[in-house]
Parts: sequence; C-alpha cells; structure tokens
Amino acid sequence: MTTLHTAAPAVILVVNAGSSSVKVSVYAVPEAAHGNADINPMLSAHGQIEGIGVAPRLRASMADGRVVADESFPQAQVADHDAAFRLVRLVLSVGLRDHPPVAIGHRVVHGGASYAQAVCIDDAVLEHLEALVPLAPLHQPQNLTAIRAVRQAMPELLQVACFDTAFHAGHDVLAQLMALPYAYFERGIRRYGFHGLSYEYIARRLRQVAPDLAEGRVVVAHLGNGASLCALRDGRSVDSTMGLTALDGLPMGTRCGALDPGALLWLAQQGMSAAEIQAMLYQESGLKGLSGVSSDMRALLASEAPRARLAVDFYAYRAAQEIGKLATTLGGLDALVFTAGIGANSPPVRARICEHLAGLFGITLDAGANGNNSQRISRDDSRVPVLVLPTDEEGMIALSTARILRDSGRL
Ligand code: AMP
Repeated sequence: MTTLHTAAPAVILVVNAGSSSVKVSVYAVPEAAHGNADINPMLSAHGQIEGIGVAPRLRASMADGRVVADESFPQAQVADHDAAFRLVRLVLSVGLRDHPPVAIGHRVVHGGASYAQAVCIDDAVLEHLEALVPLAPLHQPQNLTAIRAVRQAMPELLQVACFDTAFHAGHDVLAQLMALPYAYFERGIRRYGFHGLSYEYIARRLRQVAPDLAEGRVVVAHLGNGASLCALRDGRSVDSTMGLTALDGLPMGTRCGALDPGALLWLAQQGMSAAEIQAMLYQESGLKGLSGVSSDMRALLASEAPRARLAVDFYAYRAAQEIGKLATTLGGLDALVFTAGIGANSPPVRARICEHLAGLFGITLDAGANGNNSQRISRDDSRVPVLVLPTDEEGMIALSTARILRDSGRL
C-alpha cells in the first residue's frame, strides 16, 4: 500500500492584539489545499489573555472545546503586551511542538493609503505602520508591539499584516473626502473605513448563504464594542461609516461616533489638552458616556436607569440613520446584515433599529426568528431581507495569510 499524503498540515498563528488583550489562534491549512485555489484554514486552538496590566487572566482551549489553561496571574507578571504574548505563545507551544508555525498573521488596524491587501512585514512596512499610530492610538501600538515581540523571539518567521482598512481601499474619491483644504487629502487625511476583515468575511459568507443577495446592494452592520456600517455592491465595499480614525460614524461602547467638529474646538478652548480629548473620545464616550452605567449593551438592556434607555435609543436611532445614508450611496437596499457581538446576539437592539427602517424600506422582522438569532430574521413580506451572520475576523486573517503563503510558493 502506498502512502498518499505524508506532509503535515501547515500551521498558521493568528494574533489579534487589542488594547488590554492578546488573542492567539492556531490554524491548520489541510494538505489537500496546498497549491489549490480553495484554501480552508481550520481552527485548531485558541488562547487569550485579557486584563493585561490590571487583572491578567489566561485562557486557552482546543477547537473541540477542551480547556488547556485557565489561570489568573499577578498584575506584575503580565504587565504589558510583550509579556502577554510570550505567555500565550508558551501555552500554545505545547500543542505546536510537532508543527511549528510557517507564518503569523496579525490584525493591524490601520494600513493607511498604501495597502489594499495583506502584506509581508519587513522594516519598511513596520516603519510605515508606526507613522499611522496617531490615527489609531488605542489599537495600532499594540498591533506593532506583537509584531516586534515575534520578530525578537522568532526572527526567521514570516509575519503578515492584515489590515482593517484594506477591504475599503477601492472607495470612490467622494467616499474618501472630508471638506478640509484639499492639501490635507493629499497628505492622507481622508476617510479610510475600518472593520474590513469582518466585512470581507461577511461578503464571502453572504455569497455562500444567499448568492442572489450578495450580488446586490447590501448594508452590513458590524455592531460590537466598536461599531460601523459598510455598504457593499456585488461584494465590494463602496463606503463605510468610519473615517480617518475608528471614531467616526456610529456611537460605540466607549467611542463617540460622528460629532460636530465645533464640539472639539469648544473642548480645546475650555483648556482640555489633545491627550485629554483623545481619552474622552475613545474611552469615556459612546454608550458608556451617555448612560453613565456601562459600555456593555447587555448591562444597558438590563438596566432600569433612564439614561441607559436613552443611550440604547440613541444607538438605534443613529444606526438606522446611517443605514439610510449608505442606502443612498448604493441607490437602494437589497439586504441588511447584522454581525458582531451586539449585531449577532441582541434581538432587542436589532428590533429597535429595524423599527426606524420600517417606513423607508418596508422592513418587517419575524419576532420569533429575531429572538432566536436565526440566519434570516425578516418576514417573508419584508421588502428588504434582514440577515444575521456571525463574523470571523480571525478566520479571515488566517485565509489572507494562507493566500500569501500559497502565492509566494510557500504552501
Ligand atoms: P464584540 O466587540 O463583537 O465582542 O461585541 C461586544 C458587545 O457585544 C458588548 O457590548 C456586549 O454587551 C455585546 N453583546 C454580546 N452578547 C450580547 C447579547 N446576547 N445581547 C446583547 N449584547 C451582547
């Protein structure tokens, strides 16, 4: 008997470094996919540290749900992202011993105007990404710390940057402009859009579950701690509610969303420094700032406080308004898709948003399907179908990284 397949699956690590957490996922690219157009990385393990520098907690599990680590650490032991990454890597290395990774794919929030797709990281790329830190002060530094930590520990390993901005790179100039003096546009002060890894995944998924809708005019609502909308035409992004930074558009857990820029002038004139304003806009605004209760949608929905109710009402009102705006860009609406923590799991928030859309778009929800987070939650007589599709940003990073490996002959 001959052995048909001897090669082991290629292992790809996916690193998603957030403001107080580091998540590392291990993907195996099945051998049969090597060299084929059809790549399907499979999740095999996941580890994460949350509460870095405050109350660090490490959890790691295999894809089948088997928990391999669940431990809290003293604050000093995991004081920064460097230490956190080393720890997650250590835990996962037990499972990786026989299959060292061939590449690491990193989530990088801001790619600026230069990157329309994922890219292999070298010194020049790193320098370029460093220059974008002021445009994503809460995320980009952590993303770059993780890249440097890997460079130091495993200098030979191929690292790939997968950007939240890249999926939006084809936007028309009208979707990119802000009406400042034009010289600023040329200097890169333009609307980029974010959550692109999520939207790219949803565009692919929609093609699988509803190919007819995927060809049309679709608004995707990524409603998580961060929140934005994307207008898709035939699976391509044509506009987004986020702009130069991840502050624009919808109100979020702690971020403000769109503001009258005059409000910022007023704050500065009151004597607030740029750093103080930045901290307020990114960390003290949105649902948290309005409600005074929490940034967490579950807590607000459970709260009796009038301002918790006000914050949720405003959230739904603004989301509906912006959906209307993107439908104008698209010249109509063939489907609405909800995703991310709130979008995929919160029937009352979806119901409130859709109530605002009933008059304009004839949207009606099936209360039972909405309550169950079913894939299609609109009634048959709804003029626009409404879907719920969980997102998978890490799976998208694994796929983008695998494609780079394949296209460069490494798979
Ligand atoms: P994400 O950033 O995608 O992880 O989303 C986090 C947000 O999703 C938080 O505001 C959570 O409160 C919210 N969320 C998660 N599950 C639910 C749920 N079952 N109902 C309402 N909100 C939820």
